[in-house]
Amino acid sequence: MGDMRDADFEQPALQALLQGHVTEAVRLIAHIESPSPGVDRPGQAASQGIPPSLVDAASYLLTLLYDDLPYPAELRRLVGAQLSLGVLLWERPDAIALRLLRLTDGQFTCPALEMFLRHHPPGRLWFHFNPNRPQDRAALYAQTRCVEAAAAVRLKSLLAANAPTQRGRGYQGIEILYGAGHQCEMCLESKRQYRWEELENLPKLPRHWGCRCMYMAWIEILGP
Ligand SMILES: [Zn+2]
Ligand SMILES: [Zn+2]
Repeated sequence: MGDMRDADFEQPALQALLQGHVTEAVRLIAHIESPSPGVDRPGQAASQGIPPSLVDAASYLLTLLYDDLPYPAELRRLVGAQLSLGVLLWERPDAIALRLLRLTDGQFTCPALEMFLRHHPPGRLWFHFNPNRPQDRAALYAQTRCVEAAAAVRLKSLLAANAPTQRGRGYQGIEILYGAGHQCEMCLESKRQYRWEELENLPKLPRHWGCRCMYMAWIEILGP
């Protein structure tokens, strides 16, 4: 599973993340992955292949409590660090799922997620999804948490762009874009565009387990 190859920087990076030192983790990863090491400034390290938005998402993942997981606090902190590391390494949810499985002796479980799956047929959410497989559940958990982090980071940057100078250029507010291939009725039937004045009603993303919706700038081209 790539453990041998990854051993050099994975453990130090994980330790850095457990201590909340995301910049240090980025440095460790960038030094290994980059063909030209020797990067010292965090901004530069990020530009070596890890976009600032991913670094921010990785930081966000370290702040969550993961108290929907029936594991001791120490293990839940490791879940956060592994999710964070997976994001920094550009891993897909099924790869991050393997990290969560290793932490939980192959039996990843999340009661809230399993309750949700009982009421929402997974076929609508995920093409090859099997709710009885711990790996699939872990992947759905990882994907949903990563969407949560990405959405929080995106929303923050969109709100920062809400300056009066932007408003006159057809920048109407924030819209919610559906994930590619997303066939979820829950999201398709819901309101999608929110003007600046309506942002208190903006739903928190993800709306549910498996939701891959994302915030976008809502730009309306105004007529002449
Ligand atoms: Zn949905
Ligand atoms: Zn959605």
